[in-house]
Amino acid sequence: MKLDLSAGEDAVRELQMEAAPAAVNLVPPKGVEARFEHEIMVRVSVRRVGEEFFVHGEVATNAVFTCVRCLSEYPADLKADLEIIVHRVTAPQGQGPGADLESYVEVPLGASEFDLGPHAREALLLALPQTPHCTEACRGLCPHCGVDLNREPCRCPEQRNDPRWDALRTLLPVEN
Ligand SMILES: [Zn+2]
Ligand SMILES: [Zn+2]
Repeated sequence: MKLDLSAGEDAVRELQMEAAPAAVNLVPPKGVEARFEHEIMVRVSVRRVGEEFFVHGEVATNAVFTCVRCLSEYPADLKADLEIIVHRVTAPQGQGPGADLESYVEVPLGASEFDLGPHAREALLLALPQTPHCTEACRGLCPHCGVDLNREPCRCPEQRNDPRWDALRTLLPVEN
């Protein structure tokens, strides 16, 4: 995912790049159940002003998450904005957040390319859901019998004896 820094100061360049998750070291952080199996797509426009390159666009992929409620796996798109200013300077100081929380990166004056990979990875990791769930309405698993409550109603007696259900039970017809 190399950005060519040798291009002149002309029109805005529209770039599209893709890479395998392994190529940018994209692995989910500890505690997040996700798998990355699809290409990572980066679409950016790049505008050069002097020695500054304004990179603006987005990064997207498709991930497989594990629902925290029902433990089923489901695929979902993952997208994030990519806003980076790459500045070529004589004495680079590294990087930090710039105005409006864009990434601001200084690179040596002679640099001819810039790797977007680490930034694409970081943006995707920040966009990961903390508690992935397959649907908003997912009812999860019964804590007693493990039945997937999305697929079938739970029949275990423990749940009927749960005192939290007492109020509800008074509203139901008596079972034989
Ligand atoms: Zn679920
Ligand atoms: Zn149950």
